[in-house]
Amino acid sequence: MNQKVLLSIFVFICVTSFFLFTVEVQAEKDEKKIYEERLNLYKKIEALTHLPWYYLAAFDQYERNIQKDSKDKLIAISFPEEVWYGIGNLDHLDEVEAISFYQGQGLDGNGDGKASLDDPEDVLYTAAKLLLSKGMAEEDIKISLWNFYKRDLSVKTVMNIAKVYQHFKTNALLERHFPVSIKHNYSYRSTWGHRRGFGGNRIHEGTDIFANYGTPVLATTYGVVELKGWNLYGGWRIGIRDVHNIYHYYAHLNSYAEDIKIGDIVKPGDLLGTVGSTGYGPPGTAGKFPPHLHYGMYKDNGHSESSFDPYPYLRLWEQKTKEAQRK
Ligand SMILES: [Zn+2]
Repeated sequence: MNQKVLLSIFVFICVTSFFLFTVEVQAEKDEKKIYEERLNLYKKIEALTHLPWYYLAAFDQYERNIQKDSKDKLIAISFPEEVWYGIGNLDHLDEVEAISFYQGQGLDGNGDGKASLDDPEDVLYTAAKLLLSKGMAEEDIKISLWNFYKRDLSVKTVMNIAKVYQHFKTNALLERHFPVSIKHNYSYRSTWGHRRGFGGNRIHEGTDIFANYGTPVLATTYGVVELKGWNLYGGWRIGIRDVHNIYHYYAHLNSYAEDIKIGDIVKPGDLLGTVGSTGYGPPGTAGKFPPHLHYGMYKDNGHSESSFDPYPYLRLWEQKTKEAQRK
């Protein structure tokens, strides 16, 4: 190839990567903007109802997590038409008097005398009143959530999300981190779905990240420690539920971070423990395989939990972690 061709290829690559970079930066800005817009709405409703914004934000986020194609919706909470307008309100009259006549639940949050299902303030105000129907205390809100979902994991997840939002004072929690220290040696490849020897015909639900004993194991997302302790296959393991209804499972640890306990709030990069080779036997069993972190991800869709392949996320977070440490 002559120099001209090489030069134009070089220029082409530069222009394309600059363009892709700009698109990425713009997407991140748009994402931040939508979180800000939501936060403003939640706080507006807090001013009207005294329901702390993070409960409403958590309720809305949980709904977003269990719905399909709702990631870009401003508000995910919604009500069935017959619940909102009332049974018998066939013309969907949205004046508050009409709705209350038909015993609908729709309320007016923006003071225009109407309760519109497509008005975010009306929907959020109605949702806040629903959460407050048993009272203001945390236990009262839990009962309201139970009455709405009739499912323990749903109530627990909404309360966890609220706890995380309250702690970090925001709903825009976009940072992520690779689950082992990238300053140490490690290696991993896509092994999701492979068969494994011990424990019968279970398939491999996760990614193994091989690293030396003692390599720091770090939280990948914002969340709450849900589980900690020994398990036959996982050895010393820890589980964290994040604000996207995803349960992150870290297994075969050599040790835990000091003082870490169930209910603790973590952020990306927080120390959880160290890489080890525990498991496949009674408590304390170790060394039956080379040291590695088994990392698994499980999504709750509002009815059941199922595992999915963490590998593509690990690749992305590895990139993000490297970029952040270069800055
Ligand atoms: Zn594994």
